[in-house]
Parts: sequence; C-alpha cells; structure tokens
Amino acid sequence: MGTTLAEKVWADHLVRKGGDGAPDLLYIDLMLMHEVTSPQAFEGLRLAGRKPRHVDQLIATEDHNTPTVDIDRPNPDKTSALQLTTLEKNCKEFGVRLHPLGDADQGIVHAFAPILGLTQPGMTIVCGDSHTSTHGAFGALAFGIGTSEVEHVMATQTLSLKPFKTMAINVNGKLPADATAKDIILAIIAKIGTGGGQGYVIEYRGEAIRNLTMDERMTVCNMSIEAGARAGMIAPDETTFEYLKGRPHAPEGELWDKAVAYWKTLKTDDDAVFDKVVDIDATKLGPYVTWGTNPGQGLPITADVPDPAKIADATERSAAERAIKYMGLKPGMPIKDIAVDTVFIGSCTNGRIDDLRQAAAIMKGHHKADSIHRVLVVPASSRVRLEAEKEGLDKVFKDFGAEWRNAGCSMCLGMNPDKLVPNERSISTSNRNFEGRQGKGSRTHLASPAVAAATAIRGTISSPADL
Ligand code: SF4
Repeated sequence: MGTTLAEKVWADHLVRKGGDGAPDLLYIDLMLMHEVTSPQAFEGLRLAGRKPRHVDQLIATEDHNTPTVDIDRPNPDKTSALQLTTLEKNCKEFGVRLHPLGDADQGIVHAFAPILGLTQPGMTIVCGDSHTSTHGAFGALAFGIGTSEVEHVMATQTLSLKPFKTMAINVNGKLPADATAKDIILAIIAKIGTGGGQGYVIEYRGEAIRNLTMDERMTVCNMSIEAGARAGMIAPDETTFEYLKGRPHAPEGELWDKAVAYWKTLKTDDDAVFDKVVDIDATKLGPYVTWGTNPGQGLPITADVPDPAKIADATERSAAERAIKYMGLKPGMPIKDIAVDTVFIGSCTNGRIDDLRQAAAIMKGHHKADSIHRVLVVPASSRVRLEAEKEGLDKVFKDFGAEWRNAGCSMCLGMNPDKLVPNERSISTSNRNFEGRQGKGSRTHLASPAVAAATAIRGTISSPADL
C-alpha cells in the first residue's frame, strides 16, 4: 500500500520508531520563535546549563506584542515592552537569529519565514504557536507545540510524537470568481466543525486547491487548526517551486535542481489510503462569513443568522443561542443587514501581498462608509509592507480612509494596542472569532479581504458583488 504526503515527510524525519504505543522521535528541521512562547524555554535551557543543539535551525521574530504605529518610540505598554526586551536578550545570549521590530524581515512568524524562503517542501517545522500549520502550504509537516516542547526542540532538535491520522479534503472543481481561499477554508470548517480535524493531518487536494497561489494556499493551511487538525498540507508543485526560486534561503544552482527533484517525490501515492476523506464542491462556493463565536459558525454571506429554535441538536442549539446573544444579533436576520464598526485587514491568515492586492482592487476609487469607525490595514510582515508600498497600495488604502500600519499580529488578538472596545463589531480577515479575541467584549465576523473591503465601503456586511 502507498503512503500519504504526511506519512512520507514523517518517515523521512524518523530518528527512532517508538513501537508498543510509545511515541516516535522526529527530527525537526526548523523552529520558529516569538516573544510569547519562548521565555520559559530559554529559561529552562539556562537552568539546565544547556545550549541550543542546532542554533542555525532556530529563528525568531517579534509579532504578537508589537505596536503597529510609532514603532520607533518607547513601547508604552510595559508588559509588551518586557516581552520584547526579554526575547532580544535571550536571542543575544543563546545566539538565535532574531528579526526584531524595525527590521526589514520582521513580521508575523508565519509570514516572514516563507518570504525568506526558509519554509520549504518536505521539512518538519514547529513553533510555539498553533497557526504553524500555515507552512504546510509548501508540503512541509508544520505544527504548533507547547512551551516545554519548544525547550525540548532547542535542546535536542527532535520531538517525541505519536503519528497523526490522515485526512484528505478534496476541493473539487473550479472556484467561482467571487469565492476566495478564505471562503474555501471557512466552508470546510463550517462543514466538518471545529473538532472535525482532531488528531488528523489534513491534506488539501483537488482542482480548486491546485489553482491557488502560494499566499492563498497559506490562508487555507493556516486555518487547519480551527478545524481542530494538528496540521494542514498541500503537495508541492510548480506553483511552490516558482514561489521559492530566488528567495534568500532557497537552494541555488545544482542544489536547487536536487531539491526540486526531491520535492517532486512529495505527493500522496495513488494507492495510499487516508483515514478519512471529505469532499467539497468548489463550484458551489461563494463568499463566507462567520456569524457566531467560533470559526465553524459560518455561512454563505447570502444566508440568514440561524434560528436556534430550528436546531435539533441540543448542544449546537445552546452554543448558537449563546453566540447570537454575545454577538448582539437576532435569529433570522440577513447576514448582509449586520452593520460593522471596524474593518481589520491583516493577520497570518490574510495579511499577505495577494490579500492586500485583493482589498486594494476593491477599495480603489471608493471611500470608507461614514458609519465605519476605522479601517486598519496591517501587512503580515515588513517585506509585505515594502512590496505593497512599491506597488502604491498604501496610497489606495490611505485615499480610502484606511490606516496603513506597520507589520504585526495587530487586531488579530488583544495583546497589543490594536483592540476593539466592548460591543464593538469588526469584520476581520483573521482566523479566530472567540469571545473577547479582539479585546474584552469584542464581536468578530471572519471573512476574506474582498468581503472586508466591500463591507468597509457599504458599512454592512457585503460582498464585492453588492457594490
Ligand atoms: S496573526 Fe493572530 S493567529 Fe496569527 S500568529 Fe498572530 S496572533 Fe496568532
């Protein structure tokens, strides 16, 4: 019997087979680090008197606690300032390469590494951050780990793990012009639920996936964790190779040819069997938006907010009741009638150059609705910001009435000054709409950059077709 892509990458990194229910020991090619989940790991190493085993396979950046304005001034938030200076001191002491705030390669941990060509097919990549699944877009086995595991990888460059189950999600047919990568993944999570991927590595397959750009593939893999999966992967192909060629850390010359020859072997065999298979008809997809407080509570933008009274399952019914109350909505109201206060375009899900181009193309020649308090456009990395400025996208955003910010996690989570106030409603291109995610009492609707841009123009949740 053949093997799946995930199984191939696993086998290529096996240091020791566990057997008898014991975990395997896997070699880790790359660990990404940031200020939030690294302090205890560095401290653990310090207390044990150890040094990183392969310091050249660790790389750090600053993202969660960074302000996105006035970055050259002292950070007014004492906790954030301490997080950042601690990372800087730790990286200096242990010799870990760091791209700090102000550096041209600084950015969200899942955005800066692919841009540098550090994320490559067939690698094992970890980070103390759940959205590490993003890197699976390149055919890497990439997943989030806990703080003690971060310390373990620093000390040994290995990780002890039980094999994951495998799931194929086939996104068949061509995506309609008004649907995007974000809509694919929101539709998948709405279908399989936030626990549907638990214990699995998902491999996204099918025509609609193959037609995506690398930025779009990263959007899909990024949200695998929101379906409960450990990782999401897409087999590398010419799109992947084209993206990587010439990037600072991509192989060159003869090494490039050898790498591509290996990367081409990284695909699921025709006779491989997945533990679970899910089929999605891409031709039926359109813009999706979440109405509730988890990423699985999403619907096509043309739908109505569900009526809990019509939900048969008691657990789902009470979750819907609670979500509708928290979100300040009415059962049965059209999603398109929901007025939003703030528009956030950014995050490791949708803060890449393709996302900014998509939003700018819609905003061009328009101005934000008077009812919209603010539109924040936050590039996922400083390189994305520079590229966008080279293309003049910053001017489009500013003319529109949006705030053009520096790179970072920003309003994806309430860990820096970019927050919503209680009951403030946002449409956000990020990945989590949990209660309080964007600040205490915040109300978040997840959507694509295209829907966020159209909403910023009309003031109520809208798709570009509504303009
Ligand atoms: S953008 Fe959001 S989800 Fe992504 S790494 Fe930052 S806080 Fe986490």
